[in-house]
Amino acid sequence: MELELDLPVYEWAATEKQLWLMRQLNALTRLHHEHCLPYQRLLDSQRVALEVQAREDLYPLAVRLFKHNRLQSIADEDVFRVLTSSGTTSQQLSRIYLDKLTASLQSRALVRIMQSWLGRERLPMLIIDHPGVITDRQQFSARGAGIQGMLIFGRQPVYALHEDLSPNWDVLDAFFDKWRGKPVLCFGFTFMVWQLIQALQLQQKTLPFNEGVLIHSGGWKKLQDLAVDNPTFKNAVAQTLGVHRVHNFYGMVEQVGSVFVECEQGHLHTPVFADVVIRDIVNGHVLGVGQTGVIEVLSALPRSYPGHALLTEDRGTLLGEDDCPCGRKGRYFSVNGRIPRAELRGCSDTVEPKMAGHIPSVLPIPQRNG
Ligand SMILES: [Zn+2]
Repeated sequence: MELELDLPVYEWAATEKQLWLMRQLNALTRLHHEHCLPYQRLLDSQRVALEVQAREDLYPLAVRLFKHNRLQSIADEDVFRVLTSSGTTSQQLSRIYLDKLTASLQSRALVRIMQSWLGRERLPMLIIDHPGVITDRQQFSARGAGIQGMLIFGRQPVYALHEDLSPNWDVLDAFFDKWRGKPVLCFGFTFMVWQLIQALQLQQKTLPFNEGVLIHSGGWKKLQDLAVDNPTFKNAVAQTLGVHRVHNFYGMVEQVGSVFVECEQGHLHTPVFADVVIRDIVNGHVLGVGQTGVIEVLSALPRSYPGHALLTEDRGTLLGEDDCPCGRKGRYFSVNGRIPRAELRGCSDTVEPKMAGHIPSVLPIPQRNG
């Protein structure tokens, strides 16, 4: 099953995109149903149709299933890399099993998406993290994988922080002297970027990267706790780093490669290889534009594990489709934080598809074709 990735990332309107994407997603349902036994059992027990017409009719797996079950559609000897979710040690980690094909699709999709924002030229790169995060092979964390994945978009990368997350002023000053006034690429996880911003503010230091672009990712949870919203964040970035082009992106270890990048309007955009559906937290019903619910993410990339339709634990709002003022096509949405644990538990008490003795699904998904 070959996947053509040389597609225009944000140009296809709904009809054209859905025709292509649904063909991919239906093929993935069949592939994983055939090769992943727990997935097959779950779908069969729920009488899920393997071929559906609309994205809303796919049967999404709850992301936390990947914490309690080994879900893979490949032989053990074909496992090329295992990705683990970040999180505290007390939490159980998600494990995502990649084969070479899926890993390659992920990086190729990421290239297509990022190049449409950054251009093809590789800019001098400032990584707002410490170097240990990718050299520590003990645990190839989501953060490490994220940085590793972004390295190909920059050149001569340097790390802005020490191990204790304090700024490495020697590195910053050298980078600043070398690339003053030039286009640079800054990348980091949102909270790390915020650490640096605060340190700069404390020192009353400003960096002149007016031609720079900042790509950042990772939850807003910590920043929301500090009452920092997106406009505040962007403002502080402009004042301290000098960077005005700031793009957040939303992505997860369960679907590496198909990321949703924030446009100039502050909207997260679905690329051609991916989509979102917003569902009611209580009953799983599909919600429309302007409504807020749990985010379901669809991706044409996962071949080695059944992760092409996933119910996240994030809350989001569908903002529109094909009509963002920035001109990009596809659905666009916003993320409004995590769904509280208690609410998730409440939902799972209703309808219970069981998988290998565990509670797999957060939501009772209504099946139209069942
Ligand atoms: Zn837009």
